[in-house]
Amino acid sequence: MVNKCPACGGYLEVKIGKYGKFHGCSNYPNCHYTFSLNRNNQKNTPKLEKAIQINDRIKLKNKTNNDIVEYKIIIPYVEYIDVFDWFGSYGPKYNSIIKRVEGGNPDNPDNPTIASDSAIGQLLIEKVVGDTIKYNDEEYEILEVKKGNI
Ligand SMILES: [Zn+2]
Repeated sequence: MVNKCPACGGYLEVKIGKYGKFHGCSNYPNCHYTFSLNRNNQKNTPKLEKAIQINDRIKLKNKTNNDIVEYKIIIPYVEYIDVFDWFGSYGPKYNSIIKRVEGGNPDNPDNPTIASDSAIGQLLIEKVVGDTIKYNDEEYEILEVKKGNI
């Protein structure tokens, strides 16, 4: 199964980095899309079918005050721009820098979202109902995972 890069349509390759396995785009360095994988990469196990992925809507309960909040997990949109860097022996060299990022907005009252690559997003991805995460000294229980259309 080949996974397509949601940013550029290239294909995603499993790479191993400092923090474990991740999907990186075959068009790197032109495309910088990455997506972290869990330690075992058990993509088709029943557990992972129910696990949190991009496009899912989730319900979290704050275990301190019992507040229940609902979020959608989204892919952050990142756009790069080439800027002149220096003149090499074969002409000008360019460097890609980030031009625009649209991340999640958990405080949007109409559509609260969490970016998959944010600190809390990384904690949530591939967790299942009943799991608990710890974020900013608060504990959150995953109450519900509504699968999105991936
Ligand atoms: Zn790509």
